[in-house]
Amino acid sequence: METVTGKGKVSVSFLEEVMRKSGENLNLCYQCLKCTVGCPTAPYMDIRPNNIIRMIQMGMKKEVLGSSAIWFCVYCQTCGTRCPNEIHIGVLMDALREMAIEEGVPAKEKNIHLFHEAFIQSVRRGGRAHEVTMLMEYMLRSKDMMKGSLIPGMKLFLKGKFPLLPSFIKERGEIKRIFEKCQTKIKE
Ligand code: SF4
Ligand code: SF4
Repeated sequence: METVTGKGKVSVSFLEEVMRKSGENLNLCYQCLKCTVGCPTAPYMDIRPNNIIRMIQMGMKKEVLGSSAIWFCVYCQTCGTRCPNEIHIGVLMDALREMAIEEGVPAKEKNIHLFHEAFIQSVRRGGRAHEVTMLMEYMLRSKDMMKGSLIPGMKLFLKGKFPLLPSFIKERGEIKRIFEKCQTKIKE
């Protein structure tokens, strides 16, 4: 990536680009692994959270943006709470997902970007996620009607864990402004 400064065009490293987009200072990481040890989805990731940081520092853009790890993060913020240097990997993963979408890097896991889009659209509509409409949207887009998503979703619905109707927050205009400000690339 190149950016224009008073000195003309200069190259921006992957590390600098990610730090600018996420707002996280990855230079502070000293690989103590506290993030990865506490991360609930780390066992399912192809690259562990601490290694994602190391690979960003090493400029391994293709490998990082093409990893399943960036899509498996559920933004629980456990890593940020545990990190002695207050690095929030959930925020970092969010920035990496947006970069992968912007640059057209296909997600390693089939349909996971559709699930991500269904979640974002749900938040965009009502200010918070509504699981039933989110799952319906995901299933329609992915045509994944029976594999994986429907059965556990139905079980939770029957147990009353998923409300049938969405509840919207009062200040939905604020959500609209946030999305406009972020210039999200998510499709309508
Ligand atoms: S907890 Fe923080 S300092 Fe430790 S490896 Fe993770 S990001 Fe790096
Ligand atoms: S925010 Fe993401 S990377 Fe951090 S602990 Fe939660 S799932 Fe893992």
